Amino acid sequence: MTIDRSGEWWTGSDPGDLEEYLEAFTAEEYPIEQFRLARCGCGSFAFRLDANPNEGAALRQCLSCSSRQYICDSQEYWEDVEPESWECIECGTDQTNVGVGFSLYDDGNDIRWLYVGVRCLQCGILGCFAGWKIGYGPSLHLINHV
Ligand SMILES: [Zn+2]
Ligand SMILES: [Zn+2]
Repeated sequence: MTIDRSGEWWTGSDPGDLEEYLEAFTAEEYPIEQFRLARCGCGSFAFRLDANPNEGAALRQCLSCSSRQYICDSQEYWEDVEPESWECIECGTDQTNVGVGFSLYDDGNDIRWLYVGVRCLQCGILGCFAGWKIGYGPSLHLINHV
């Protein structure tokens, strides 16, 4: 796992690089303490991603088996948002890894904020496509729903 920080955008050689990227990205906001890489039930790590970066909702679709999953609590809000599809700013593909970082409250019992990270499958560019406040409890179960 290697992150190349030399170019205009950081790139990662491996899906797991998303964790380090999100740690750096959130260091001066709400730092993440937990990270989960999205993995389809079929075993694939490759997705298309629709999200509304401002409203806070995201839906991923597996490139292998086409099954869809709402990320964390997104289904509750999905009908009210106008999603946009993620596309790589560099190469234009819509194929990505997805990983979610979670910032917890100080007592560690609930999620304060989450960040939906992407890593372009073609060129490796790392980014954060959406992030939103959770701020209610119980919410820790959402960590395993990416
Ligand atoms: Zn799948
Ligand atoms: Zn790309």
